[in-house]
This record gives sequence, structure tokens and C-alpha cells, in this order.
Amino acid sequence: MKIYTDITPLTLFALQQIIKSLIDNSNDGLKEQKSIDETILDNKWLIDQLITGQKEKPDPFLVEVNSDVGGEDLISSFINQHENLLHRIDKQTVGIIDDQKSIGHALIEILHTFAINAYWFESIEKYEESDKDIDLILLDIVMPKVTQTEVFEFAKRQSEKGQKVIVCSSTFTFETRLAAVRAGCADFITKPINSYSLIEKISRTLGTNQSHAFQLVLVDDQATMGTFYKLMIEQEGCDVIYFESAEGLFKELENLRPDLFLLDMNMPDVDGIELAKMLRYEAKFDFTPIIFITADETVETRLHAISAGAEDVISKASAIGAVKSQILTRLKRANDIRKHVARDALTGVLNHGQIAEVTNQIIKRSRREKQPTSLAVIDLDKFKQVNDTFGHVVGDRVLFSLGQLLMNSLRDTDAIGRWGGEEFVIAFENCTVDAAAKKLNSIKSAFKAMSFSDDKGGSIHVSFSAGVIQLGQKTDLEEAIILADKGLYKAKHAGRDKIVTFICK
Ligand code: GH3
Ligand code: MG
Ligand code: MG
Repeated sequence: MKIYTDITPLTLFALQQIIKSLIDNSNDGLKEQKSIDETILDNKWLIDQLITGQKEKPDPFLVEVNSDVGGEDLISSFINQHENLLHRIDKQTVGIIDDQKSIGHALIEILHTFAINAYWFESIEKYEESDKDIDLILLDIVMPKVTQTEVFEFAKRQSEKGQKVIVCSSTFTFETRLAAVRAGCADFITKPINSYSLIEKISRTLGTNQSHAFQLVLVDDQATMGTFYKLMIEQEGCDVIYFESAEGLFKELENLRPDLFLLDMNMPDVDGIELAKMLRYEAKFDFTPIIFITADETVETRLHAISAGAEDVISKASAIGAVKSQILTRLKRANDIRKHVARDALTGVLNHGQIAEVTNQIIKRSRREKQPTSLAVIDLDKFKQVNDTFGHVVGDRVLFSLGQLLMNSLRDTDAIGRWGGEEFVIAFENCTVDAAAKKLNSIKSAFKAMSFSDDKGGSIHVSFSAGVIQLGQKTDLEEAIILADKGLYKAKHAGRDKIVTFICK
């Protein structure tokens, strides 16, 4: 028999803990038996959390269970279900709602040029009838048969569902901007639409395809507490790596790059403050927030924690909802800042320092997992001439376009960065040199098909050359770059617009 339940793993876990301590208590013949009341008092914290948790919105994921399946299975089935949702990676798709077919088609063409899927709908009605999976709507606010108010009402319904909306119009008055903000729109764009600002706005709104589920590291010596927080945060779609001791964390630290540390303040081996100071020694965590959870939330403790480099202190007595929202707000903000710091302002790909760091991580991981890694160095052909003939503004657009095209065309797991000037580096995780070269070849054709024009009516197509290598078991980043550069040099000498590949021993 199957039953449907809306019990979340979190609730179930708390219930299990309470029942377990009741059973432990009644089995323990040596000690004086505690009354049920006393056992409940011992578990007051969990019970309080259960009650506040139940007052909140019911969990949106209904878990289907067999009535004969135990709690552990229920939890793992829930988490599997959740993870599948998290890790589903689709190519990003834009829906254009505009009554003018010519505009719809022109936009589709621009988006396709940048490797973004797009569909055109001539009205809101047509959009609502369709079953297409859309990540972002470009919405014209002046359309026949609907008032502007109705268009914004539609935008608001969509934003409330979590859909991203960018509104388009030939003019934006103070009132229409305000209406856009009130409807929860992500941005607005003025017609006639400039393709570069369109791509830039879409990329900013959707994030790049290199986005990931937030990852959080949690350290708490009490397993009950730790598991409780882990499940609670996982419910919000974050990955949580849990350690029962600071030592356990330090063993793995080299391989971790979390978006946030959540640390228990009172632990037996080291106290949380010392742990925060140890984490602050590592430059790679400069922008990673540290949050403490503690039962002792005096002003002195807070100041002490913050002076040790922590961002915030959360009380263990706070309601689940408050704890969750404090953590999530910190995560989102830290992620925004990190994205800005990590990315090259002109092209949107990773900057020099970040691509080096991410590539190093990829190299380490692939060595451990014995998977192939490939690395490419790309350089624009005769780019000096492009600048000299068309000016730096056009040159910058060429660089921007290649960066965006690479990000939209490559996999989530590939890292793309600007190495310097007009050179890009790509680390292909889990990829042979042949597969990487094949992918780059198709990007090369797509890029060459792009046309760049100046305001004097001139236009140009630009190509690139690349050296691609497959790393050997011992190849490090520096050596990989030198070898890929050799390939690039050969490609240039063979007439440019070419890809040369090598395999390292
Ligand atoms: P080759 O095919 O051999 O690579 O020739 P090239 O002209 O591309 O090579 P060269 O290294 O001589 O020129 C690179 C040019 O890239 C010169 C420099 O002005 C330009 N460049 C570097 N960074 C930027 C940038 O951020 N914006 C613009 N517009 N140009 C840049
Ligand atoms: Mg060049
Ligand atoms: Mg160069």
C-alpha cells in the first residue's frame, strides 16, 4: 500500500530523536528512569523547533512512501528527489512576448548567435497556452488587446512563480520603471534593443551556466544538532557538507570551496572562534562568510565572534524560519560579491586569478578520479588590426561576444577565463582532447559567423586560433599553459583560424 505524507525529513528526524530517547530511557535499567515529562524536557529544543517548523509553510515536496519503508529510506528518497531537481542542467531558454513578428525573429536570431535558445510568442495568451520550458521572459509592455496594467499584472504573476522577467519598451518613464519594480521584474530594456546590452542583461539575470547550488560547510560536535541543521538547510536546495569536528574539516579543507561556513561556537577540541581565525588564514576564504550558531548570545560573545572574522552570530533558540532566512540572505549576498570579484568585467568570464584557481582544482580532482582533463588557450586572430581599423569599442564587443558565446556553449563543469588581453583559457573537466577540440571547432564556426559593425557602416568577422592539450597524470597548470601555448603558436603559424591539439604523457 502506498501512502502520501507531507512529513519532511526534518520533522521525521526530530520525531525519531524524541522517540529514540524515550526508548533509550525505558531500556536503561541501571539508571533511575526518567519520567516522560523529563524526557520531553530534555528534548525541548527539538520539540520547539518542530512546533515552529509546523507553523511555517508546508514543505512543497510531497514525498511518496511505501508504508513499510522506514525513516532512513524516507529521508534518502527525499534527498535523491531533491538532488535530481538541483542538478538538472538545461540550456537556458528565453521566451519573447512581442506582438511584432519582425522583432521576435530579430531577437531570436541575436540570441541564437550567442547560443541561447529562444521562442517567440505574439501575445501573453499564446505564451500561456504553450508548454515550453522558459527560464526568462522578454516582455513587450505595449501590445494590442491588453492594457499596460494587465501586462504588468501578468509580469507580477510570473515573478511570483519565480520566473525571471525583463520588460521591453521604446520609452521608460518613471511610472513604468516603478511598475516594473513593483511587478518584480528583473530588469528593463529600451527598444530598439542593442544586442550587446540584451546579452549582458540576460547573462546578469540568469547568472552564467557556471552557477551552482550553494554549498555550505557545517561544523557541530553534536550529531543531533548537526543533522538537524543539515536537513533544514538542504530543504532550501543547498548542498551541506557536515563535520563533527574541526579536525575533520581541516583534513578536507584543501578540497573545499564552500559559499559559507556555519560553525558551532562551543566545541570540545577547538572553540569556534579559534576555528574562525584558522579559516581566516586561508586567502581563498577571504570572501566566504562565517556564521556562528550558539546558545550563548550575549553582546560580548557576538563582538568576540565578529572580531575573529565572523559575519554573524545566530542563536540556537531562534525559530527555524529565522535561522534559515539569516543563512540564505548571507549566502546570496556573499555569492553576488564573489561573482563580481571573480569575473572579468568586460567579458563576464572568470578573471585571471580565478581561472587559475578553478583550473588547479579541476586538475587535482581529475588526478584523483583518474579522468582526462583538457586545457585550451585561445587567442583572437589579428586582433590588433580590428582595434586599429574599427576602434577599441568594436574590439571590446568582439571580446565580450567571444566570452558570452563560450559561456553559453560549454558545459557547467568547464571553466572559462580571460587569461589576459585577447587570450582566453578553458579547462575542460572530464574531457579528452578530441572532444574538447570538436566542441571548440563548432564554437569557432559560430564565432566566425558573428558580424561586428562600427557606426560608419563597416563590418567585420573575426576568427580565433587555439592550442588544446590533454593533461598527463603529472602535468600541472604552468606546464599545461606552456604546452597549450605551443599548440597556439603552431596554429598561428599554420595560417590562423585553426586548432592544434597535443596529448601530454
Ligand atoms: P595574432 O593573430 O598573431 O594573435 O595577432 P594579434 O594582432 O591578435 O596579436 P597582438 O598580440 O599583436 O595584438 C593583441 C591586441 O589585443 C593588442 C591589444 O590592443 C588588443 N587588446 C588587448 N586587450 C584588449 C581589450 O581589453 N580591449 C580591446 N579592444 N583590445 C585589446
Ligand atoms: Mg591575437
Ligand atoms: Mg595575444
